[in-house]
Amino acid sequence: MLGRLCRWIRILGFSAEYVSSDQDDSSILERAVNSGRIIVTRDVQLSSRAKGSLLVRSLEIDDQLAEFIGTYRPSMEDMFSRCTLCDSRLEIISSSDPVISLPPAIKERFQEVYWCDHCGKAYWHGTHYDQMRMKISRLLGDAHEDS
Ligand SMILES: [Zn+2]
Repeated sequence: MLGRLCRWIRILGFSAEYVSSDQDDSSILERAVNSGRIIVTRDVQLSSRAKGSLLVRSLEIDDQLAEFIGTYRPSMEDMFSRCTLCDSRLEIISSSDPVISLPPAIKERFQEVYWCDHCGKAYWHGTHYDQMRMKISRLLGDAHEDS
């Protein structure tokens, strides 16, 4: 249910694991404790059993993101350091490195790209990145005004 938020949490630089809602609460709680992660959920009961958890109220991704950012205050330095697909830390590599095959236009534009060693996905600071950064900055601004 919170799959999109999970990817955003990774974009913000936090390690996140997506757990489907058909798993029982006790095993989710145990995994959270073992991995040192906090639980972000829409499930009131699960949230009440998990210390430091975030109970997400909204159904809209932008509002969910605002709830998360307002609570956990991500640092700009950590952002865009994780693979949104698998949660691994990204490495900076040369765009001409033979381990990745990038569109020629991307190779030309970026000397370095971010690369996931685990699933092979590459990231670069294109338009999408700028839009995400703007969105996060705006939400950080909003969150700041509230406090
Ligand atoms: Zn990956």
